[in-house]
Amino acid sequence: RNFHEPNLEELASGILAGNRTLLARAITLIESNAEQHFQKAQELLQMLLPHSGKAIRIGITGVPGAGKSTFIEAFGTYLCDLGLRVAVLAIDPSSSISGGSILGDKTRMEQLSRNPRAYIRPSPSAGKLGGVHRKTRETMLLCEAAGFDVILIETVGVGQSEVIVREMVDFFMLLVLTGAGDELQGMKKGIMELADAIIVNKADGPNKKLALKTKAEYSRILHFLQPATKGWETKAFTCSALYEEGMNDIWSTIKEFENNTKKSGVFAERRRMQTKEWIYSMIVDQLQFSFFYHQGVKPLLPKIENEVISGSRTATSAVEELFRVFHDNKH
Ligand code: GDP
Repeated sequence: RNFHEPNLEELASGILAGNRTLLARAITLIESNAEQHFQKAQELLQMLLPHSGKAIRIGITGVPGAGKSTFIEAFGTYLCDLGLRVAVLAIDPSSSISGGSILGDKTRMEQLSRNPRAYIRPSPSAGKLGGVHRKTRETMLLCEAAGFDVILIETVGVGQSEVIVREMVDFFMLLVLTGAGDELQGMKKGIMELADAIIVNKADGPNKKLALKTKAEYSRILHFLQPATKGWETKAFTCSALYEEGMNDIWSTIKEFENNTKKSGVFAERRRMQTKEWIYSMIVDQLQFSFFYHQGVKPLLPKIENEVISGSRTATSAVEELFRVFHDNKH
């Protein structure tokens, strides 16, 4: 090979110095499903862990078309202009299933991706080993060690991924559209109850009046819901991501949230719970890894899969056989 492969010490000190190339390499290690990369990534994390945790972690969700990438472009640029360093990560539930992507790639946030204070990382793919939760969480820790002040984690509001993001951020916001009266009725109460703020986007031009009305409707409904964070009242806002309006209000709300929850201890308690979650998601990852890469299980899988698909045996008996092999013959 004609390039120098950095060792762990070089990676760690480079990341601490804010070296982008080494940060990107380390994230690639974390995202890899190869066992030797996994071990190396874990050692690196161990070295960098004491330098993580200082950023404010913000999650953003919303249906496709709500304006998430436009918003992150505007909000990220606003934060960079304040002198902050911003890392943008994503969890894309579609990428593991179809290989395609709802969120697309980083070309969506062109202006922000050129900003020297910003770093945008597309969503990792889950693959057979799952682990999007762990990979994103660990990538966030690396970004913190690299000195980013704000971590923005984006996901599409179509299912389980909001819960995953909620489990790794301090502040979670839901981006919604105007005139969504019917949608508002049908919207899962559960998603609204995850949010620390609801932002009605596209409050501009002829849409502005409707946006204010929508905001009032959300405010009314929020009164009946369980707040996502103890001691914090979830409020509705309007903004225009396209015209970069309303960013100031949103940021000062997040700062207020941070101050309040740090004072009350809710901030630290949530992070402790989230760290605990990290352990369990890692256990699940490791179990999957040891199962699917087991020397007895791996070669048996295609045959057994075929037997079940062709109807010659039940899924239960297939799974029982796989686990028998797994337990009898530890590797
Ligand atoms: P995402 O799918 O949630 O990431 O949504 P996008 O950011 O791709 O935005 C979807 C469409 O809405 C694009 O055509 C944007 O230009 C448009 N859009 C996003 N934010 C605004 C806004 O604040 N005002 C207006 N008028 N259009 C917006």
